[in-house]
Amino acid sequence: MKELTCIVCPVGCHLSVDENLEVTGNRCPRGKTYAKTEMTNPTRMLTTTVRTVFKDVPRVSVKSSSALPKGLIFEIMSELDHVIVEKHVKIGDIIVSDIHHTGIDMIATKSTLPTL
Ligand code: SF4
Repeated sequence: MKELTCIVCPVGCHLSVDENLEVTGNRCPRGKTYAKTEMTNPTRMLTTTVRTVFKDVPRVSVKSSSALPKGLIFEIMSELDHVIVEKHVKIGDIIVSDIHHTGIDMIATKSTLPTL
């Protein structure tokens, strides 16, 4: 039996998962899906920043377009350490396409364009 806290919503249900992946303690179906994914292929959304060439905006915040395999997060962070944004970007622009061959993009969550 594995004990988990569901992180899908702020309620934070306490979940129990048995060896047959039967889930109890969830108040909604999303908790069951979360627990099964967490037990078989845990994933996480990634939010971080990457460097730019702009002195007034030295870093731009980015997030993954969907959840990434948890086991790849450190390798993906290392890959993002080498990224330098050289052209102005706006919110929603793709900063890195298909990061680490996952099929998932890293998307800008901040604009580097000067505000008027
Ligand atoms: S099981 Fe449902 S209600 Fe409970 S924390 Fe997860 S998403 Fe929220």
